[in-house]
Amino acid sequence: MLYLDNSATTQIHPSVKEKMLPFLFEEFGNASSKYYEQATTAKNAVDEARKNVALLLSSKEQEIVFTSGSTESNNYFIKGTAHKLAHKGNHIVTTNVEHPSVLECCKFLESNGFTVTYLEADENGRVSENQLVESITDQTILVSIMWGNNETGALNPIKELSQICLDRNIYFHTDATQVVGKVRVHLDQLPGVTFLSCSAHKFHGPKGIGVAFVRHDEFGVPTPLTPLLHGGGQENDLRSGTLALHNIVGIGEASRIAYKEFHSNETSLIENEKILISLLNEKFSNHIKYNNDNDNKIPGILSVQFIGVNNEILLKKLAPYIAASTGSACSSSKPSHVLKAIGLSLEEIRSTVRFSLSSHTKKEELDIFKSL
Ligand code: PMP
Repeated sequence: MLYLDNSATTQIHPSVKEKMLPFLFEEFGNASSKYYEQATTAKNAVDEARKNVALLLSSKEQEIVFTSGSTESNNYFIKGTAHKLAHKGNHIVTTNVEHPSVLECCKFLESNGFTVTYLEADENGRVSENQLVESITDQTILVSIMWGNNETGALNPIKELSQICLDRNIYFHTDATQVVGKVRVHLDQLPGVTFLSCSAHKFHGPKGIGVAFVRHDEFGVPTPLTPLLHGGGQENDLRSGTLALHNIVGIGEASRIAYKEFHSNETSLIENEKILISLLNEKFSNHIKYNNDNDNKIPGILSVQFIGVNNEILLKKLAPYIAASTGSACSSSKPSHVLKAIGLSLEEIRSTVRFSLSSHTKKEELDIFKSL
């Protein structure tokens, strides 16, 4: 069976599994404890993982806060900014193609007195600098725009968008869940990005662990933000709760590999995407249509309409041979708000299938499309 639903989740890399195993049994210490051996081992393992994540994102180690994943990181940034800066303003800018973990936070804040502008993505799923500039008011405290879309793969111009916010002294958050490991992230060259979210399970790490990148100023002071989880003060008081040692070791190893193998992974995704497109074109020629464009997108994500075919029926038929999805796994029961936002009709949405490759997908495996 060919797994082409890597935007939903990926398989743990074998060396991530190996690295995690001791921390599920022998090495069970609490990284916040002191003096005895298990405690030191745990603390050192967390430090090493943080170093590897920081390397992957080109950030400082202290700017990496471990969370349970992107849903938590997104909630933390949006609700945390709203709470911290409510005295300064009540306006937030986002887009209409964000993940529900951003959109639902914004809706929640709207019901609590905040105003949210939802920038409308164009037919390719991107928003522009002009749109952002026009939306900003003297009440704007946060802009939250995803780096790459989970359904179409469309990449936003994050450098330019974040610079607009930096020039105006407004926090800029980006949900980078789908891009980390597939697109180079150089946070040291993006001074306008205040906050970034990502999840390990999208780049061959374990589920239930992610990162909230919180930018520090030149004096090493983190951007002021109210924590989502209050408690024992772990993670420099930014995220309380006993550190999930095994998972942290897992995201660290997944980051180390994603950094080391970035170039070959990227090449494999680009080449296999080309092969998949030509196989789909050969097999289905006039009966398919692509929802994504080819420029400036996450390599390996294709959103394909099978004209006149119901996607649920198609996916069920394909299931013994190919695992794919209608779009986001998080809202698979409803028609995609992303595809609707980029202008597709209900019928077009209901005929769309998302294929998402991994750098571990082998060329030969794609041959299965020939025998369908
Ligand atoms: N943002 C985006 C763009 C995503 O694709 C996902 C996962 N589908 C999330 C946020 C949430 O990630 P998690 O479920 O790991 O918290």
